[in-house]
Amino acid sequence: MASIRMVWIMTQDDLMDKIVSLAKRRGFVYQSAEIYGGFRSTYDYGPLGVAMLRNVKARWWHAIVERRRDVVGLDASILTTPKIWEASGHLANFTDPLVDCKKCKERWRADHIDGVCPNCGSTDLTEAREFNMMFKTHAGPVENDSAVAYLRPETAQGMFINFANVLITSRKKPPFGIAQVGKSFRNEITPGNFVFRTREFEQMEMEFFVPPDEADTWFEYWYQQRFQWYLDNGIPAGMLRLRVHEKEELSHYSAGTVDIEFLFPWGWGELEGIANRTDYDLTSHEKASGVKLEYYDQATNSRYTPYVIEPAAGATRAMMAFLIAAYFEDEVAGETRVVLRLHPGIAPVQVAILPLAKKEPLISVANDIFDQLSEYFVCDFDETQSIGKRYRRQDEIGTPVCLTVDYDSVQDGSVTLRDRDSTLQVRVKIEDLTTEVRSLLASISSNLVSDTV
Ligand code: ATP
Repeated sequence: MASIRMVWIMTQDDLMDKIVSLAKRRGFVYQSAEIYGGFRSTYDYGPLGVAMLRNVKARWWHAIVERRRDVVGLDASILTTPKIWEASGHLANFTDPLVDCKKCKERWRADHIDGVCPNCGSTDLTEAREFNMMFKTHAGPVENDSAVAYLRPETAQGMFINFANVLITSRKKPPFGIAQVGKSFRNEITPGNFVFRTREFEQMEMEFFVPPDEADTWFEYWYQQRFQWYLDNGIPAGMLRLRVHEKEELSHYSAGTVDIEFLFPWGWGELEGIANRTDYDLTSHEKASGVKLEYYDQATNSRYTPYVIEPAAGATRAMMAFLIAAYFEDEVAGETRVVLRLHPGIAPVQVAILPLAKKEPLISVANDIFDQLSEYFVCDFDETQSIGKRYRRQDEIGTPVCLTVDYDSVQDGSVTLRDRDSTLQVRVKIEDLTTEVRSLLASISSNLVSDTV
């Protein structure tokens, strides 16, 4: 492979700066409300960012819902009643310890700073107090207590409160899961590290309901499956690890948690948590709502409350990890190029169609090819600047296949396909393009995955 990973020679701060600047320059991620000076750690996803984020979510959905017979989907509301959060324990427990620096008045998460203010270095801090991270609002025209509503801080509760609905309408029985992808909101005290920790973000969560005596087996099964998903999508094994939570660290609902961590430029950080939530949630909602949330097993004529195994991932955080893992600087023909070696299923564009000159008949041939291929692949069409510059641009956004239409194409009915990672080129017949592109994408995917495991 021609690519040499040079990122580890750069300082890790450099790498972060490069990724943030590439993300902005190429239209992946913009600071939200930038023309007003930005708004409190929120981000907007540009043309390439939205394409990439949609791919991350689609590949998760494909692996978790569409490829399985035992998981169904759900899309629950974001605006929710306090009753849910009272029953789930979030009103009481969804807090972070907060301290104020008495000198510079900055506010920090006590467990993030080790007793020293990162802003001014003072150790004169207030006692820690608990700060609830849910966003509160009012539903309807009157702002009184009976109108209080919350933006969900996780998608999980939507699955628990719909357990009985889904059980009846889907005719599933444990072991089975309900999956959801969507926005969550947390009033984080110290957001930061680009889109790693933001106040508005997207999650991909699944609640897998199992007979209690099968919980340990399914727990192990799911953290292995989820670890493998990141590998299958091109993250190198050396940048991933599993971390088992110590007893004291476990959330109030958990009988066991394993995190999948990624090696971010500042160190290991959580990508996803897999927890054995026991029957905590169903039991709590049953008590609070008065509605039975059990499974009646006809075979044994018995009722039980299922245990829940939950893989909970962040879509926006995962997208950032995919960008970091894919970033390479290597040398092609004596020149340094930046290349995002993204998995073709995650890359925002799969095929770039590049007519060598902005002239007929090349443009007509290229237009026809765009119409043919865009039925099956996400395509970009670029007819300006030199071919070298266009390749560099596509490398930098991670496009796996560049397709060039030249003057010979008109005579011989063939075009050139270029592999992003090896930069090797092959000549193929236009009539075979769909098959040829598909097989080149498959070979780029498998090289990438075998390279990284
Ligand atoms: P952390 O310890 O990083 O705050 P957490 O353990 O509270 O995360 P969970 O409640 O388990 O996170 O949420 C599941 C996933 O949702 C996390 O692994 C992460 O990928 C994502 N996530 C959580 N909070 C944020 C956030 N503020 N910004 C972006 N992603 C987030």
